[in-house]
Amino acid sequence: MQTDEEPSFRDSVDLMVNRAMRLMDLSPGLEQKIRVCNSTYIVRFGVRLRGKIETFTGYRSVHSEHMEPVKGGIRYALSVNQDEVEALAALMTYKCALVETPFGGSKGGLCIDPRAWEEHELEQITRRFAYELIKRNLIHPAQNVPAPDMGTGEREMAWIADQYTRMNTTDINSRACVTGKPPHAGGIQGRVEATGRGVQYALRVFFRYPEDTAKAGLSGGLEGKRVIVQGLGNVGYHAAKFLSEEDGCIITAVIERDGALHDDRGLCIEDIRQWMVKRGSIKGYPSAAYTEDGSALLEAACDILIPAALEGVIHMGNAPRIKAPLIIEAANGPITFGADEILREKGVVIIPDMYANAGGVTVSYFEWVKNLSHIRFGRMQRRAEEARSLLLVEELERLSADKGLGWTLTEDFKDRFLTGSDELALVRSGLDDTMRTAYQAMRAVWHGRDDVNDLRTAAYIVSIDRVAKAYRSKGL
Ligand code: NAD
Repeated sequence: MQTDEEPSFRDSVDLMVNRAMRLMDLSPGLEQKIRVCNSTYIVRFGVRLRGKIETFTGYRSVHSEHMEPVKGGIRYALSVNQDEVEALAALMTYKCALVETPFGGSKGGLCIDPRAWEEHELEQITRRFAYELIKRNLIHPAQNVPAPDMGTGEREMAWIADQYTRMNTTDINSRACVTGKPPHAGGIQGRVEATGRGVQYALRVFFRYPEDTAKAGLSGGLEGKRVIVQGLGNVGYHAAKFLSEEDGCIITAVIERDGALHDDRGLCIEDIRQWMVKRGSIKGYPSAAYTEDGSALLEAACDILIPAALEGVIHMGNAPRIKAPLIIEAANGPITFGADEILREKGVVIIPDMYANAGGVTVSYFEWVKNLSHIRFGRMQRRAEEARSLLLVEELERLSADKGLGWTLTEDFKDRFLTGSDELALVRSGLDDTMRTAYQAMRAVWHGRDDVNDLRTAAYIVSIDRVAKAYRSKGL
């Protein structure tokens, strides 16, 4: 449990921002302009459901409009409140700046337990909420572009896009009003798994630098590293699946809302996910040990801890007992400011949220560009690329035959060389490049300045500097 001395989520973000700003040379006025949340719209609307009128409360915060549109997910959870939405909107500003997606920061939320409603009821509620935001330009391709977050996914984004189109029948760019849509409704390949994929790419980059892994007291690559994941939703599931299936990590524990599963020999993530989807809970899963007090496993020994559920789970109360030497914040704000100070003191390396989970907004950016250009990535180039590669292969084979050199190209090489990049391959390449480039920028500050000894402060310095430059170029 969090203690009473713990600041709120929003204050926690501001304290982290202040810590970085103290190391920068910004005027107090500009510091304040960057820090504050520009606006928060609160709406209470009624929907007739099950024979009576239900009233819902929703939020859309805009933290910074130094670039437009502003961008940030819409969360469905009972815990949604103004403080949380504003903290998440602020994180979006810094995240977008860090990974160079040309957006300001925003976030939305609806106080609702999505599991309490049938699909057709959720559609009615979502459309009504979207209507309220659309009529105030808080959903708009040029001004404010939401995406999925906790409790929402492709389905909700498709309803929002359709609602916008119904209300803006002549807007040719209407599909760009929201990202995270299913591919058949203007989405992009690779968006569903993008945030988890980004977590995987972030860890791969980190493990490429022996000096960086040494700071966490680790060595070697990802192969064989023992990992604990909290939250097996969109982000946690994909991150854990890719890390275990593609990088040889051993997932020793999965912590969910109703307990945790653990097995030191490693868990099968796909199997657990299928169980959860069918039964709505991890309870009763037969192939691993079950613990009712899931959060206790955050303190278990492992190499990498991945909190991928919600904010504030590592706090001043449990931070002193955390054993993981490396934490990657797949969720937004899982470590409070107080816990961050304790963990830094202990020498724990933290790969911060604004970088670690930026894969989602990165691929959302690609989707938005795709929607505005009205063409799928790779459609024009793919076959031309294949034809040029074929020309080269045929010429090499002809030369080899003519000169009697006896060269042969392997079938595997030919297959791979002759396959042009489709949309998914291009999305992955763009995401990988983004995660590497942003890491270099953070790392340069982390290693290059004596007064910066953690990745989070480094990340904030990079992004605040970029936001400051954008404001200055607007004449502020
Ligand atoms: P989700 O709703 O798909 O999954 C959340 C999971 O966490 C669920 O399986 C839920 O049962 C579990 N959970 C809830 N409360 C828990 C608790 N107390 N202990 C353990 N598990 C708990 O949400 P998501 O989209 O995966 O988002 C998770 C986090 O990642 C959030 O902080 C979100 O802001 C962040 N994030 C998501 C995206 C995205 O693209 N979806 C992008 C960036 C950041």
